Amino acid sequence: PYTGPSADVILSKRKEFLSPSMFCLYRKPLNIVDGKMQYLFDESGRRYLDAFAGIAVVNCGHCHPDVVEPVINQIKRLQHPTVLYLNHAIADFSEALASKLPGDLKVVFFTNSGTEANELALMMAKLYTGCQDIVAVRNGYHGNAAATMGATGQSMWKFNVVQNSVHHALNPDPYRGVFGSDGEKYAKDLQDLIQYGTTGHIAGFICEAIQGVGGIVELAPGYLSAAYDTVKKAGGLFIADEVQSGFARTGNFWGFEAHNVVPDIVTMAKGIGNGFPLGAVVTTPEIAGVLTRRSYFNTFGGNSVSTTAGLAVLNVIEKEKLQENAAMVGSYLKEKLTQLKEKHEIIGDVRGRGLMLGVELVSDRKLKTPATAETLHIMDQMKELGVLIGKGGYFGNVFRITPPLCFTKDDAVVVKNACNYAMNDYKIDEPTSRCFSITMFS
Ligand code: PMP
Repeated sequence: PYTGPSADVILSKRKEFLSPSMFCLYRKPLNIVDGKMQYLFDESGRRYLDAFAGIAVVNCGHCHPDVVEPVINQIKRLQHPTVLYLNHAIADFSEALASKLPGDLKVVFFTNSGTEANELALMMAKLYTGCQDIVAVRNGYHGNAAATMGATGQSMWKFNVVQNSVHHALNPDPYRGVFGSDGEKYAKDLQDLIQYGTTGHIAGFICEAIQGVGGIVELAPGYLSAAYDTVKKAGGLFIADEVQSGFARTGNFWGFEAHNVVPDIVTMAKGIGNGFPLGAVVTTPEIAGVLTRRSYFNTFGGNSVSTTAGLAVLNVIEKEKLQENAAMVGSYLKEKLTQLKEKHEIIGDVRGRGLMLGVELVSDRKLKTPATAETLHIMDQMKELGVLIGKGGYFGNVFRITPPLCFTKDDAVVVKNACNYAMNDYKIDEPTSRCFSITMFS
C-alpha cells in the first residue's frame, strides 16, 4: 500500500514550490501512485481505466514489464550520455527505428522531447533550403520553445516570442473549417499563402497528421498530399510532426501513412519511450549533412537508458501486435461513440483513427457552440466512474481518448458506458475552480 503524502499535502507543496502555470485535470486532483498496463491507481488503491495514457505517451501500457526490465538492467550497468563513446544501445535503437521509416529516411538524431525534435527539424529545413519561411497549420501544436511556439497555431500556447517568418495556413478541419471536408480547397489556400505571403520559396511545412492538442482534428481528405506537392514546388521540406500520432497509435505505424506522402523529416517523442524522456528526428543523409557545418550536440539525447527503452517499445509493439490492436479496438470504440451521438444532443462530432479519438461537445449542434464547461463536468463525472480521458481543442470542448494501445474491446465498452452515463446528467451546479478551469492539456 501507498504510504507517501496525501493528495492535499502534495497539492499544497505544488502550489508553494511549483510553477503557477501548472494545472490539474480534475476539480479534485488525482494522486496517482501506481500504473499497470491500461490502469492507474490512486493513493487509496482505487483503480482507474486510463483512456488518456499520459497524453498518448504510454503506448505499450503502464510499467510494461518488457520495457521496465531492460531499462533496469541498463541503468544498473551504465547510464551515460554515450554520444562521445561507443555504446550499443543508441546504435541498435537507431537501426531499428530507421527500419520503421520509408524511403531514404534513415538518419536519426535523438533529443529529449518533442519540442527539441521540432526545433531541430525546423532549423535543419532552414539550413538545407537557405530560406527562413516556415508554414504551419492553424490549430496545430509543435512545442514550447521559440521556433516551435511560433509554429504552434493556437494563441493560448503562445507567449511573447519573436515569431519570425512563420505563416499559418487555414486549418483543414472537416468539422469547423471554412471549406468543410474539401482538402483541395484548403491546399489551394496554402498555395496562395506561399505565393502572396513569401518569396515563393519556403524552408518547410510542418503538420500533424491528426492534431492532438488541437482536439483530435483529422485533416480533410486529400489535403496532405496536395499540400505536399505545393510545398515541394516552393522548394520546402515537408516535416511530419508524429509526436502524438506516431508509434502505432492511429492504426498505422505513422500518421502520415494514411495520406500517401513520404516526408523529408519526421519528428517524434511521447510514445517512442513509453514514458521515458526521449524524442527523435529522422531524415535523409543529404538533409542530415547540414549539421556537419557546425558542432551540434545534445547532452542527454540518445543516452543509454532512454534508447534501451525505445528499442524495448518497438519490440513490444511488434510482439503484441499493438498496431493491429489500435486499429481494431479503435474502430470499435469509434463506432460505439458514434452511436452515442444519436442519443446525446451534446455530441457534435466523433472523429479520429485508431486509438487517437475525439468527441467534440457542443451546446447547439447547428451553431456548434462549444460546450466547454460541460466537457469539464462530464470528464469529472467519468473520473468518479473510474475512467480517465483527456481534453483539448481551442475551446477545451473535445474529449481526447488516447489510451495505451493494449486497450481491449471490453475496455472500449467501459469507456462508452461511462461516457453515456456521465452525459445523462451534465448540469453544471458548481462554479469551476482555477485548478479545474484552465482549458488545455498538451
Ligand atoms: N508536437 C506535438 C504534436 C505535440 O502534441 C507535442 C506535445 N503535446 C509536442 C510537439 C511537444 O512535445 P514535448 O511536450 O515533448 O516538448
